[in-house]
Amino acid sequence: MYINGEWCSNADDETITVRNPATQKTIGTVPRGNTADIEKAVKAARETFESEQWRTFLPDERGRILYKIAKKIRDAASEIAQMETRDTGKPLSQSQNDVEAAARYFEYYAGMADKILGETIPIQADVLDYTVREPVGVTAHIIPWNYPIQITSRSVAAAIATGNTVVVKPAEDTPLTALKLAELIEETKLPTGVYNVVTGYGNEAGAPLINHSDINHITFTGSVQTGTAIMQAAAKNIVPVTLELGGKSPNIVFADADQDKAAEWVVKSIIQNAGQTCSAGSRLLVQQNIKEDFLEKVKARMEAITIGKGEDDHDLGPILTEKQFNRIEEFMQIARKENVNIVTGGEGVEVEGAETGFYFEPTVLDNVKQESALTQEEIFGPVVSVFVFENDEEAIKLANDTPYGLVTGVWTENVGRAHRMASQIRAGQVFINNYGAGGGIQMPFGGYKKSGFGREKGLEALRNYTTLKNIALKM
Ligand code: ADP
Repeated sequence: MYINGEWCSNADDETITVRNPATQKTIGTVPRGNTADIEKAVKAARETFESEQWRTFLPDERGRILYKIAKKIRDAASEIAQMETRDTGKPLSQSQNDVEAAARYFEYYAGMADKILGETIPIQADVLDYTVREPVGVTAHIIPWNYPIQITSRSVAAAIATGNTVVVKPAEDTPLTALKLAELIEETKLPTGVYNVVTGYGNEAGAPLINHSDINHITFTGSVQTGTAIMQAAAKNIVPVTLELGGKSPNIVFADADQDKAAEWVVKSIIQNAGQTCSAGSRLLVQQNIKEDFLEKVKARMEAITIGKGEDDHDLGPILTEKQFNRIEEFMQIARKENVNIVTGGEGVEVEGAETGFYFEPTVLDNVKQESALTQEEIFGPVVSVFVFENDEEAIKLANDTPYGLVTGVWTENVGRAHRMASQIRAGQVFINNYGAGGGIQMPFGGYKKSGFGREKGLEALRNYTTLKNIALKM
């Protein structure tokens, strides 16, 4: 772990085993952090936050250090990407994209470090009223296992740019790149105690962090269940939270769309990271009169997907763990019980040379009922469910009829319809004739409904890490 500029293990030298999902073979161990380690890390972050050195640190100097971190990430990109692939199982080129995104977060927020502005507000002639945006203090970052380096960087870079100190708790299954980031940060002039990492399980290291009375903000990406626990913990201490929880995001394909392009993205959006993505395109809503042709296109593309170890950079890598794999299988049992038409896929696959890993075929489910768990719940695998609609109203109704609202793709050449759809869809991001816009670190990202609240990415995220003070001076 990395606490107050020092590398440490937990007091009892207990560890967690880290495995490569490609084969489930052990690739290392990290400390099994607990309450005592969290105490140490929060104390370091607090003392640093209140230190003269950090309080008077020039914003432009903070920015320059963040630029240096971005450069160091790029210089070590190949090593970090390989580490991320070993840790998460994802295909190497996807890890490379994640590492570049991580560098971009540091670069993007570096530029903002000295542009956090207040306002002057007219009150009366002899009163000068102005606002300043101040850092919130010690920020806690609970990171999921699906995009570790990217998600760590996006909230940490924004928090440091705005003058906070941070304690990161990476996911127990994928802790390596948050520690690698510490190694890179250590080589810069960022004061020790600004960036701290405590590895460990959710209940042993995560829980003491979110319940700690001396943290000032919690950023969380993960499941609705843990998001609920985080809000409850935060409620006790009156601490703001930013929650990015799951999704059941649809691609809505109209008959007038460029169907080849739409099919390509329907497949990409569910295959990326083996569907283990909060913004995965896990539903396909297709207009009735093109359904047959369009499904053929999707099926053909799904069946051409290559499956294998992340290191070998196939289209589709392994599922993270046996537990996640079993969860997908349970959804397939529901599909069979509900007489869903499995258009393609539906089974686990064995990969030669990686028989001990857990791989799942790209899967398309048709005739799924609206109230089915397959429609309403996140599967977190390479599984897309298909629905048909006849007109705009039906498409909107289906799109909005899940507990989530993270992302939606709309495919149509009719620009009026595209805007009408965008205005009525209850999701944090709507993409028209694309999906994801290449990851767009500049675009505010977050959810409606159970997908969470607060926005990450873009300038909007800076609000999470600053608090507003109004100052009135009577002349
Ligand atoms: P999943 O079930 O897919 O692993 P989680 O939401 O449980 O997703 O995990 C996301 C992150 O939340 C991980 O870093 C995990 O350790 C952490 N976590 C899980 N439970 C808790 C908890 N009770 N308190 C704080 N963090 C937790």
